[in-house]
Amino acid sequence: MFQKILIANRGEIAVRIIRTCMYMGIETIAIYSEVDKDSLHVQLADEAICIGKAKSSESYLNMENIITAAINKGAEAIHPGFGFLSENAAFAELCETVGIAFIGPKSKTIRQMGDKSKARELMIKADVPVVPGSEGCVKDLENAKIIAQDIGFPILIKASAGGGGRGMRIAYSMDEFATAFATAKTEAKNAFGDGTMYLEKFLENPKHIEFQMLSDKYGNTIHLGERDCSIQRRNQKVIEEAPSLINQSIREKMAQAAIKACESVNYENAGTIEFLLADDNFYFIEMNTRIQVEHPVTEMITGIDIVKEQIKIAAGEKLKYKQKDIIFRGHSIECRLNAENPKHGFRPNPGEISLLHMPSGPGIRFDSFLYTGSIIQPHYDSMIGKMIVHGETRNEAIKKMQAALEELVIRGIDTNQSFLYMIINNPKYIKGNFNTTFIELNIEALLEYDDYE
Ligand code: ADP
Ligand code: ADP
Ligand code: MG
Repeated sequence: MFQKILIANRGEIAVRIIRTCMYMGIETIAIYSEVDKDSLHVQLADEAICIGKAKSSESYLNMENIITAAINKGAEAIHPGFGFLSENAAFAELCETVGIAFIGPKSKTIRQMGDKSKARELMIKADVPVVPGSEGCVKDLENAKIIAQDIGFPILIKASAGGGGRGMRIAYSMDEFATAFATAKTEAKNAFGDGTMYLEKFLENPKHIEFQMLSDKYGNTIHLGERDCSIQRRNQKVIEEAPSLINQSIREKMAQAAIKACESVNYENAGTIEFLLADDNFYFIEMNTRIQVEHPVTEMITGIDIVKEQIKIAAGEKLKYKQKDIIFRGHSIECRLNAENPKHGFRPNPGEISLLHMPSGPGIRFDSFLYTGSIIQPHYDSMIGKMIVHGETRNEAIKKMQAALEELVIRGIDTNQSFLYMIINNPKYIKGNFNTTFIELNIEALLEYDDYE
């Protein structure tokens, strides 16, 4: 087992990873940008090293500085968390070159599956159902138009390098196509430095169902069940839960497809196979070759620490679980807490936390990097924490989330806490009657909360 790991991330996920390292008796090295020197991950790690200025490109995305820090501090492995360099094949390759274990799959796998149009191509070959669309990427606008005509409208134009819900646009007809294509391409170029595009049929009322996978270096792959992540805003997840409300026969088919997907690329480490489910048909949309934001709901219902499994796999250990050892218990829900004001167009709202009270109790977990006096920086993602609950039943989990969100106090900045509360209390959500259009269709009702407690 490794003795020392560098965590190439910040915020909530860096704290999450450091905690598991503590439980495993592994020393940790935090990295931080100049503005993050008082951040919780820096305080919890055994050692910390400043790797650059506030701007991500000069710090958390600065591969050279991060690798140099890892070598100088004697790290045997690097955990990339999510976002930042977690799906950057060049970074994983750099780790391989200098002999530091990258806690994730091989760089070659990231290259294959991180490119969403390439992944589509591979899944078609592996006989995993994908959304009807272009085989791989499209060459140019003319080529795209021909394929679009073939697929039929509405069409979703997507960026191969996309993530976080960015770089996609819907076109409802050929008249809109050229403009939507150009907008999506420009957004992709700006956000990911890559304007490669592909096309999918736009599914009108799908559910987002994804499988948590674990694969070791010896060809063993298991799944830890699925999560429903249909509660989204602008294609980005807001609330996730496990298990989903799908029936057992579809669940089994999807699980088999997810295993096939991992095996077809000789996957190693934790990963997620994302599907859309529409009218009892499921379609692969992408694989995330990293730990995901919503991994805690799976941990709650399986009792497995996914970060611990990631570290063990990277250290060359064999999976100790077989599929039949995975037992699912109860129901778990996660709410993503963002520093933003929903009533002002979800505008990000950085600042200082003047008061914090975190709820606690059986089956209540709050993953965050907040403390009274901590500063939410404007430079990074607005997600400041995740409220996670576990109940015997879905109804109990909902009740616990209602109570936890009521008890939570965060002063000093605006958050989406009340907005989350409105979703959790919405009758359609409680009934399980929702798909990816839920927030958009109910936005007015969801914003009808009082600003003061
Ligand atoms: P998950 O499926 O884990 O929720 P998301 O796509 O929501 O994944 O992304 C997780 C985090 O990483 C979010 O904070 C998101 O903004 C960020 N992120 C995801 N993909 C990228 C990317 N390609 N570039 C930069 N940040 C990203
Ligand atoms: P990202 O890399 O940004 O996570 P995904 O391809 O995983 O992008 O899609 C994010 C979300 O966008 C999905 O969960 C879904 O809500 C929506 N989406 C993606 N593809 C389609 C599609 N073909 N039809 C309808 N909705 C889609
Ligand atoms: Mg996705």
